[in-house]
Amino acid sequence: MDTFSHALWGFGLFGFRRYPKFAALMGAMPDLISFGALFLLRVIEGNYTWGKPALSTLPAWIYPAYTVGHSFVVAFVVIGLMAVWRKEIAFAMLAWPFHILLDFPFHSLDYFATPLLWPLSDVKVDGIPWSHWYIWWPNLAGIVILLAYRYKQKRRIL
Ligand SMILES: [Zn+2]
Repeated sequence: MDTFSHALWGFGLFGFRRYPKFAALMGAMPDLISFGALFLLRVIEGNYTWGKPALSTLPAWIYPAYTVGHSFVVAFVVIGLMAVWRKEIAFAMLAWPFHILLDFPFHSLDYFATPLLWPLSDVKVDGIPWSHWYIWWPNLAGIVILLAYRYKQKRRIL
């Protein structure tokens, strides 16, 4: 899914107790440390071009950055450690594995398939890219329903 959708899913699902901004950040984090960093670098260098960058133009560091951010194994080890220390923060961090869960079926093998179980296994699926309208519009509808629900819930409490 696009990074902004990930942030909103994280915010809506895991930011309703406490730390809403942090939950949104954790939802977007796997993409921010890879494609976000690349975006920033290209803007600074002055050679940013709009759209999905071609594989041949990508720097080598983006692959390990993407892999570490998109692995359930890494996410749950880090969140498990955090849960020992601060449960509320660990809850907001669940936006991270939810990001991976959403990417898993919606990335094809051609472009950054999700390395779900790295470094334990190399398994990846050839998913349907999220940019197809029949994935993206239901995604948007899901976000709108979720945020509307949270808004109503909040008004009931106040
Ligand atoms: Zn992602």
